Amino acid sequence: MKREQLIESWERIFDSIDEPISIHDRDFRIIKVNRAFCDLLKKSQGDIIGKHCYRLFHGSDAPPDTCPAVRVQRTKSSETGEVTCICTGSPLEVNVSPIFDEEMEIIGAVHIIRDISVRKRKEQALRESEERHRLLLKHLDEAVVVHHMGEIVYVNEAGLRLVGAGSPGELIGRDIMDFVHPDSREIVAQRMRKVIHERVSQPTIEERLLRLDGSLFYAEVSASPIIYYGKPCVQVIVRDITERKKAEEELIRRNKELSALYTLSSTINQTIEIDRVFRAVLETVTNLDILNVQRKGGIILVEGDRMRLASHLGHSEEFIDLHNGMRMGECLCGICAETGEVIISKDSNTDPRHTIRYSDMEPHGHIIVPLKFKGRVTGVLYLYLPAGFEIDDDKIRLLSIIGDQIAIAIENSRLYEETKRFSLHDPLTGLANRRLMNVILNRLFAEAKRFRKTFSLLMTDIDHFKEFNDLRGHLEGDRLLKEIAKELQKDTRAIDLVVRYGGEEFIILLTDTDSEEAYRIAETKRRRIESSLPVTLSIGVATYNDDTDSPEELIRRADKALYMAKQRGRNRVEVGG
Ligand code: GH3
Ligand code: MG
Ligand code: MG
Repeated sequence: MKREQLIESWERIFDSIDEPISIHDRDFRIIKVNRAFCDLLKKSQGDIIGKHCYRLFHGSDAPPDTCPAVRVQRTKSSETGEVTCICTGSPLEVNVSPIFDEEMEIIGAVHIIRDISVRKRKEQALRESEERHRLLLKHLDEAVVVHHMGEIVYVNEAGLRLVGAGSPGELIGRDIMDFVHPDSREIVAQRMRKVIHERVSQPTIEERLLRLDGSLFYAEVSASPIIYYGKPCVQVIVRDITERKKAEEELIRRNKELSALYTLSSTINQTIEIDRVFRAVLETVTNLDILNVQRKGGIILVEGDRMRLASHLGHSEEFIDLHNGMRMGECLCGICAETGEVIISKDSNTDPRHTIRYSDMEPHGHIIVPLKFKGRVTGVLYLYLPAGFEIDDDKIRLLSIIGDQIAIAIENSRLYEETKRFSLHDPLTGLANRRLMNVILNRLFAEAKRFRKTFSLLMTDIDHFKEFNDLRGHLEGDRLLKEIAKELQKDTRAIDLVVRYGGEEFIILLTDTDSEEAYRIAETKRRRIESSLPVTLSIGVATYNDDTDSPEELIRRADKALYMAKQRGRNRVEVGG
């Protein structure tokens, strides 16, 4: 190929290169440019060739020291710099490489120029966006922490406040795990791995975190990937939820309290017999998680100036003996009953008020709650706590409410017992009434039938009682009825039942007693009345046998025998056939 052809083809290649290129001589005078260069400066070749490059780019009469073309003269190697083209105003990156002659003297240089206005705009936009982001984070209420592989690289002001740091310097460079409670570390590490390696955001979860001083707080935490200063990092957003947690815990506590009270009141309401109420209360109260007391305690009732251990859980015989009949004001329970105040004792061994001591006594604490009804202390509930145990006001308040409930239960049971007694007993004499007699009589009858046993029934009637009333008055008559009731109960076995059957008629049910024995008992009773009171009795005896059809038949037979006794002169016993 000829030289001219070579040059021509080189010129074509030179022109076809996309990057703007110029060549200048030792004096910075441009001797060669390609098309892209002309396009960049929006000038023709004729306008450029022969011009000093510093005039073209800097618009100055001499090249500034910072110009890469000048630096090339000094360093004799390639230099890169940024200039703003005065022709177009575009930011340009200029790479200048020296051209040497055979003696390695610089005879010129090649400029390769890159328009970096797009890149610059992007960089500027990024800077602005980062600045906005930083400002946003700085003033955000939520704490924001950025870490790189666990090492904290950024924290906003809310983040500093959250952990109690005065400046970012206290946190930057530290391991993020220092601020995670040991129980939460495993889950945090897992989430971190996901963000770092898979670059996926992690949903908000609750974590237990630590402040700089090591104190615990609850937070809602979310984590997402972020590029921070060119490094793949994790951005963690933390919201302190300690207050909310506290409110939630308070709610849970109150719920527990309510359900404890509900359990207790439903236990109390299920049963009316006082002994069972006490047992149920002790079982329930000592089992309540929320109170956290030992499974030991009891209920002591006030009876006049004395106190009676009515029910207990987990005590020895010795303890029971020592606590029965204790006085008001004696020992802790007595003080509680006397003052009506809740008594708390942290250690039984050192508390001088704890005066009743027993051999198997272990160190313990007490909480003793008065059981008050209409302002009057009717008893105390005492519970055992581990020695030195602290009991807070909430528990005391809860126990006081429980105490009130127990007091109401005691009163209800008392009323119930009274009602029950009146409905089955005669108010004048205190003897069983007809209703109770029917229950017992039916039971005796059924047992006798089933087990082929026997029993007897005595029916008594006062002789000429009308005359007594007429002579001495009705009140005196009533007093006499009471005396007779007492006499009839003397020598009566616990399994037998004396009944006020009618106005001045009494029935005595004699378990496992045959006719002869019944007659003997009737005679004894008749004689005792005769000798001790100003009236006499007539008594009819009836005894169950295999032919007896019903309890009523037995009553009829006794009635008949009684009638016989009246007929045959009164003050006597007749046995029915
Ligand atoms: P008899 O020997 O036949 O039994 O003669 P009596 O007078 O006792 O006659 P009866 O058994 O019919 O007794 C009825 C009298 O009993 C009428 C009444 O004066 C008296 N009485 C009945 N209930 C009571 C009561 O609750 N109190 C008093 N004081 N008297 C009563
Ligand atoms: Mg009568
Ligand atoms: Mg009579």
